[in-house]
Parts: sequence; C-alpha cells; structure tokens
Amino acid sequence: MPNKDKHHLLSLVPGVDSIWELAKKNKDFNKIPEKVIKASIRHILANIRNKILGKNKLHNNKKENSKSEILIKVLKHAKTTISPKLVPVINATGIVLHTNLGRAVLCKDAIDNIIRIAFNYSNLEFNIAKGKRGIRYNAVEELICELTGAEAAMAVNNNAGAVLLCLDTLASKKEVIISRGELVEIGGSFRIPDVMEKSGSILKEVGTTNRTHIQDYEKAITPDTGLFLKVHTSNYKIQGFTSSVPLSDLVSLGKDKNIPVMEDLGSGTLINLSKYKLGKEPTVLEVLASKPDIITFSSDKLLGGPQAGIILGNKSLLKKIKANPLTRALRIDKLTLAALESTLNIYRDENKAIKKIPCLNMLTKSFKETAKISEKMLDHLKNKITDKRVAEFECVDLSSLAGGGALPELSLPSRCVAVNPILISLAELEKKMRLNKPSIIGRIDNNRFIIDPRTLKKEQEDIVLNALEKILNKTKIE
Ligand SMILES: *Cc1c(COP(=O)(O)O)cnc(C)c1O
Repeated sequence: MPNKDKHHLLSLVPGVDSIWELAKKNKDFNKIPEKVIKASIRHILANIRNKILGKNKLHNNKKENSKSEILIKVLKHAKTTISPKLVPVINATGIVLHTNLGRAVLCKDAIDNIIRIAFNYSNLEFNIAKGKRGIRYNAVEELICELTGAEAAMAVNNNAGAVLLCLDTLASKKEVIISRGELVEIGGSFRIPDVMEKSGSILKEVGTTNRTHIQDYEKAITPDTGLFLKVHTSNYKIQGFTSSVPLSDLVSLGKDKNIPVMEDLGSGTLINLSKYKLGKEPTVLEVLASKPDIITFSSDKLLGGPQAGIILGNKSLLKKIKANPLTRALRIDKLTLAALESTLNIYRDENKAIKKIPCLNMLTKSFKETAKISEKMLDHLKNKITDKRVAEFECVDLSSLAGGGALPELSLPSRCVAVNPILISLAELEKKMRLNKPSIIGRIDNNRFIIDPRTLKKEQEDIVLNALEKILNKTKIE
C-alpha cells in the first residue's frame, strides 16, 4: 500500500480525547479508574496505527475503526487490566498438594482467624499481661511444643527458609556432613547443595547414592565439622541394594562427638497416616523420639496449613537460631501466623483434624466416596449430552496423588469421570476448561480428559458439570 494511502488512513484514526469523551459518558466505564481507561485507549489506538503501517493491501477498515468499535475494545482491555491476576481455580487433577495450584487449601478456622487478625490491631509483638514488647513466635511455639513434645519451636516464612536459617546459625563456615543419597532437589529449584552454599556452610558428602553407613559419617568428621544433616527424601525413593543410617544412630554419634544433628523432614505430619492407609510417613513425634537437635518441615504440605517453615528441637539451639539476624528477613507474617495457629489448634483433636483440614479430608476420602460423586456426575453428563457424536463419558478407576513431594509411592484409588471429546480435540477441551471462569484444571490420561473428585469441593461439582456441558454442547451437530 502506498505511503500516501497509509497517511490517509492514519489521519482517520480518532484521537485519545475523542474516545475518552465517549467513555466518560458510558456507564460501563464508571468503576474503572481514568488512568486505566486512558492507557487502554492509547493501547488500542496504537494497535490500530501499527496495523495500518504494517498493511500491504488497502481494504476498508472503516467499521473496525469506528469510534463505537474502538470503545468496545477499550472496555474489554480496561476490564482485563483491572481484573485480579491471582484467582481461585478448580483443582480436578486429584493431586491434593499441587504446588502450582497453591498447595494446601486452608481450613475454615484458619481463614476466619486471618480475617479477625487482618481486620484489627493485634498483640503480634506485644505482651498484654506485662504491658511490654512481646515475641512474635509465642503465638505458636507452645502449641507446636504441646503437639510434638519438642522443647522449643518457631515458625518462619517457609521450610527452605527454615533450612537456610538453621544451617546459617549452626554451621556457617563449617562442614556439614550429609549422605550422597540425600542431596535432593525439591520442585521449584530448592536444592540442598545450593541452600547450603548460600548459608556459607561447606557440603561434605559421604557414602554413595544408594548406600551410606555410620562409619562414613564418622570418618568424615574433622575439627571443622559443624553439623550432621539428614534430609527426608520425600519426593523419591531409592530401591534395591540400599542402606541409610537411622537417625538414632547418627544422634548417638553426634552426642559422642559433640556435633548437632538436624533433619529436614520436608513434609511433616502430626498424624500417623498409616492408620488411614496413607503410607508410612514418620510423624514429627516419632522423629523427635530419636532426639535430633533440630527438625524442620513445611506447614503447607501434609500439615495442611499456610506457607511456613517450622523449626523445632533443642532449646539452646533454638535460642541461637532466634537470635540470628537472618530471622528478621525470613520472619513469618501475621496473617500466616494467624492461619498457622488455628490450623495447629485443630490438631488437638485428631478426628476433627481429619474432618476439618481440607488436605487431610481429601487424602482420606474413600474410594467409595469418589465413586459416588463420579457416578452421579456421569449420570448428569449422560443426560445432558445425549448426542454420541459430541463426546463419550465413562467412569474409570485411577489413582490420585498426595503431591507436594509428599508420600511419593502412595496411590489413592479414586473413581474418576473420563471424557472423550469427539467433535473437538482433547487439547481443545483441556484448554477450554482451563480458560473457563473459574479455570478448571483436569488431567489427561489415556487420551481422555479426567475429572478426579478427590480434590473437588462439593459446590464445585456443578460448576465442572456446567462448564463441560457448555463447552461440549457448543459443538453440537445441528
Ligand atoms: C518441600 C521441601 C522443602 C522446601 O519446603 P518449602 O516449604 O516449600 O520451602 C525442603 N526440604 C524438603 C525435604 C522438602 O520436601
């Protein structure tokens, strides 16, 4: 297209002010800040100009560039700009502690307490009885000690922070002896060797990937040894010809040589999960019985609380950890603290915990319960989408996962709904469910779209059904 024509088309593009005058009069724009509307106008107009400049052929784009069309585009753009970016999604994957989807869903008590504390001033760092400055960790320290039998405890931003803080306090510029089989990477780039480097401690690996013996630790001790570290390899399992040193043996050696022992438990649980057929994850209580000096674990994995890292153990070491200036950088926020206290409080009654804490509730959901939900959903779908050329539905027996690097070998039998779309592709169905409002995340298995009821809340079942119906029926053959 000749430049002359381009110049002519460009001269027809309305100015920012003329669109702004229209927007001001239109009530759809009432709740959108002026700044946002003007930025959207500039954005849309720039797009139109760029399109004209890039064009080779002249064609009539009068309608597309009419003021009313532009206004529609501006409204859409402005609404997208101000819409929240962090949004709830429906997790139909069956992965209970899905790290990408925010790990643990909080229990009602925790949410109520967050609101109560957020809405008011609180005694976060104020001792009401004494009328002077108080300590942030007091809100949960006693409770953690009561539930685990630990001497002392604190909570920080997350478990990665807890490990970093402990290493920095106990072993900065010193050697930390760890088994080669425990140099793990947790999803999201948490690698034990990297955290160790950041803490200024020196990694001293002993043993081999599959076998490490107590003599390996003993031989590695030098005057520079600051700590024995054990890491619970929660997200994988080495099988076959393996041997690792029991924590209690390492503790004996540590006592003998005056070297503290720390275990990074990763996920930590306060409940004996084997009682609910959920594998053999050692409880925090059981691990403490071996008397390590320090244990750390996440609050938003099997515990089912907010994102936090819990440190517990020996009182004198905890005193040092609390006094480390790094604590200030890793400190737990008051809303998290509120949620953590309420979550821990529920653990005083195990039955209540199973019922009220969403992750425990989902993990203990029986196969029978999943079957009941899936069969009901299947009936509904078969009634609503009767044209066999649109999609096929059936129930399939699969397994859900705990996720979050916890209980890697555990498979939880779950009856799921499997959708086999015929008119649209599987990829298209997955995408449309994902882009639905609210977004619905399922999984693909054996060329079918799978809805696992384990991670669905009751009120979400209908939302999923309606979305499937809407998406699939749109493709109906007339
Ligand atoms: C998950 C995990 C971490 C990291 O915990 P965050 O709370 O996510 O920071 C560290 N160590 C182990 C063994 C873990 O499983």
